[in-house]
Amino acid sequence: MAACSLCDASLDHCHGTLIVHAYRDPECTDPACAIPDRLCHTWVADCSDVAGGCECLEVAPVDARPEPITRTGPQRLVG
Ligand SMILES: [Zn+2]
Ligand SMILES: [Zn+2]
Ligand SMILES: [Zn+2]
Repeated sequence: MAACSLCDASLDHCHGTLIVHAYRDPECTDPACAIPDRLCHTWVADCSDVAGGCECLEVAPVDARPEPITRTGPQRLVG
């Protein structure tokens, strides 16, 4: 009945869906999952496929930006 090649191979694996994030560590839909590795999952999804999108994709462009030039304090005291 089981149609899982990893079960047949008696390998440690998970039947949850691993969500692979573009800018974060992978997450598994099974909270008990201890092996967030795509090789240990029969179901792997990209976080961009998640309905509603993933916040890691929204955060990423901010991280990719160069550091903002913060100008605090007076720049010119020439008077
Ligand atoms: Zn299995
Ligand atoms: Zn994500
Ligand atoms: Zn898992």
